[in-house]
Amino acid sequence: MPVSEQVWASSNIHFPSKDSKDWFDAMVSKGWCTPEWPKEFGGGGLTFDESKILKQRLKFFGCRPAQINFGISMLGPVLLEFGTDEQKQEFLPKISRGEIWWCQGFSEPGAGSDLANISTTAYLSNGKYAIEGSKIWTSEANKADWMYCLVRTDKTVKKQAGISFVLIDLKQPNIDIKPIQLLSGQSPFCQVYFDNVYANESHRIAAENDGWKVAKRLLQFERIMMADMESEGAVDVEPLKVFRDSHPSASLGSKKLLKKIIAHEMRNHLIEMTMSRSTAESQNGFSPAGLILKYISTEETQTRWELNVSSLGMGGLEIVDHSAGVKKEVSKSFFYSKAYTIAGGSSEVQLNIISKNILGLIS
Ligand SMILES: Cc1cc2nc3c(=O)[nH]c(=O)nc-3n(C[C@H](O)[C@H](O)[C@H](O)COP(=O)(O)OP(=O)(O)OC[C@H]3O[C@@H](n4cnc5c(N)ncnc54)[C@H](O)[C@@H]3O)c2cc1C
Repeated sequence: MPVSEQVWASSNIHFPSKDSKDWFDAMVSKGWCTPEWPKEFGGGGLTFDESKILKQRLKFFGCRPAQINFGISMLGPVLLEFGTDEQKQEFLPKISRGEIWWCQGFSEPGAGSDLANISTTAYLSNGKYAIEGSKIWTSEANKADWMYCLVRTDKTVKKQAGISFVLIDLKQPNIDIKPIQLLSGQSPFCQVYFDNVYANESHRIAAENDGWKVAKRLLQFERIMMADMESEGAVDVEPLKVFRDSHPSASLGSKKLLKKIIAHEMRNHLIEMTMSRSTAESQNGFSPAGLILKYISTEETQTRWELNVSSLGMGGLEIVDHSAGVKKEVSKSFFYSKAYTIAGGSSEVQLNIISKNILGLIS
């Protein structure tokens, strides 16, 4: 299924074709959008091993995930871990069925890498939080239904100890969502302004002021999602194929490039094996390998698109010629891959985490 056939989960879901709707309906009816989640929450009820086999088979047949949904990859797993029964019952089945477009309200103008520095405040009164402040770089907020959000509920304690994790219904007054226009002319991000906006106390995940532990866990899931993203790359833009199609006869220069591509493929294979090991390890608790995956796989993804551009030579960054399907895909992905080492925590910050939490180099 081509990338253009993928759909975003939403209360106003749009299917580009009958095929994409059929595929979505078939996956949802089996609970296979969330194969490991319990059946009572809309999941497939599969064991870890069964789910792994399912994912391998889907990949083998070139099937893309039926929906793009931060609820599946990030919020759902933390709800399963920290949510109350009521919260799980309210949100998980809707997430699995792709009925909510979630956005992530973490970063702020003064809080990016230093995420605990958030200053958006929330005051509890009569079972509702009143929220004031602003979030930035919120991907697709202008299309989202709900935001999972970090808010400051205590200013008097250590930064990390005064944060709560709340779910905000974006369909209410006093929320101003402004798309941020990029050089490309596109606006995948927004700045979101809250002026006396409400979240129900019952939609706070974990105890008040205990949101940092939820955020840290969610960021682990985000890193896994980002590490996993490119392993689903389309077959027609795999570096070896792009190279073969663009180099019908071998020259010395092209042999050097081929060597680099083979080295990249081998590293990619190692990353995939490490990812499988880490997923298996994390079933029984913490997996240190998980901490390196976001860094190595997003850096390797950039290498992948650089190699593709090198294979295509002068035309590698062609973005105007719409007939050049592969070139357009390559140039778009080449530019977009630059964002992967920033989103979800920059590479520099990942290296800090590795040196502190795995190597014990920073106290
Ligand atoms: C494609 C994309 C999608 C995003 N989507 C979302 C979203 O949906 N929701 C959301 O909340 N946020 C989102 N973000 C924001 C993202 O989380 C932040 O951009 C990221 O955490 C970095 O923060 P910053 O941009 O404020 O950079 P800064 O924190 O200001 O960092 C600037 C530079 O300084 C370096 N740096 C900072 N601190 C250190 C340090 N201690 N040691 C070494 N180097 C350091 C960084 O590596 C970086 O190179 C998205 C970003 C991108 C690129």
